[in-house]
Amino acid sequence: MLDLASLTELLDQPRKIVITTHHKPDGDAMGSSLGLYNYLIQQGHHARVITPTDYPDFLNWMPGNGEVIIYTENTELSAKLVAEAEIIFCTDFNSLTRINEMGVLVGKSSAYKVMIDHHLEPEDFDDYRHWDINACAAAQLVYTFIVDQLKHKELINKDVATCLYTGIMTDSASFRLPNTTSIVHRIVAELIDAGANNARIHDLVYNSASENRLRFLGHCLANCLEILPEYNTAIISVNKTDIARFNVNTGDTEGIVNYALSIATVRLAAFIVERNDKVKLSLRSKGEFPANEICKKYFNGGGHRNAAGGQSDEPLDVTINKFKSILPEYKTLLIQ
Ligand code: 5GP
Ligand code: MN
Repeated sequence: MLDLASLTELLDQPRKIVITTHHKPDGDAMGSSLGLYNYLIQQGHHARVITPTDYPDFLNWMPGNGEVIIYTENTELSAKLVAEAEIIFCTDFNSLTRINEMGVLVGKSSAYKVMIDHHLEPEDFDDYRHWDINACAAAQLVYTFIVDQLKHKELINKDVATCLYTGIMTDSASFRLPNTTSIVHRIVAELIDAGANNARIHDLVYNSASENRLRFLGHCLANCLEILPEYNTAIISVNKTDIARFNVNTGDTEGIVNYALSIATVRLAAFIVERNDKVKLSLRSKGEFPANEICKKYFNGGGHRNAAGGQSDEPLDVTINKFKSILPEYKTLLIQ
């Protein structure tokens, strides 16, 4: 691993830079990437954000969004930019499998790779690392990278601040999760001072649902929620037919798992959804319960202690039963 100080020197002159983030980008993935992008372009760098896949409409308004390239929709240009890049920033992920086919391109590129991330167990593919699992969002780390590492606080303009605010707001579940420390609140205050319009950002992200999304949410809560009181666990499971019936789009399922977790007694909530080629699980937990351990051990995934995800190649009902069969192993932790 190289010393971040030499990266500061590298960034002293304009570079060809690619910023990429995990597939199905969420608010932190887009916020941290575009926050970094809006910083780098002020320094004269030729920077582009490339996302491995598309992302929800409620994230398509951030400054710089018009310049984002979606790999699956523009593979040739993406491959060219990756091949020509001198520096590749990897934000909000730490394993090349999280960027799908792009992982192969990034892996064989001769560019310096810079990981800016807050997930556990980083894979060793990077040259520079700004990584802290205690950070509530990768956007928080982009902030400290610019301010503390590069000493460019004055370049946190309205565009940078807007993106980073969005990343921190979404990944901290609106400043609710335990890792929303006083330091995070101070950073957020700086971002508001720098021009982030907190009320507007909140509206754009959380009050921009489609009618379908709301009706789908109602369906999930009324018809697809199962409570397992003996394990303080709740499961919302949705099949392909429902996905089609409610015309569920990218992002429409985001956050639904949190409704299950909002039940007072529930310590572990699962959202299990049947997609075209596989079944995807989203787990959320309260307190010390390690949701990521279940995803890692049983569902080829991972994540954070309180928010994790994974997948299964088995049918929906088999996956649900597998999830239920794991709960006895965790009973003591769940009923504490
Ligand atoms: P979500 O439930 O919103 O899809 O994911 C929650 C968190 O779990 C993400 O921020 C990410 O850290 C992690 N996560 C989700 N899916 C996967 C996966 O397939 N592999 C790994 N390693 N982490 C995942
Ligand atoms: Mn994140």
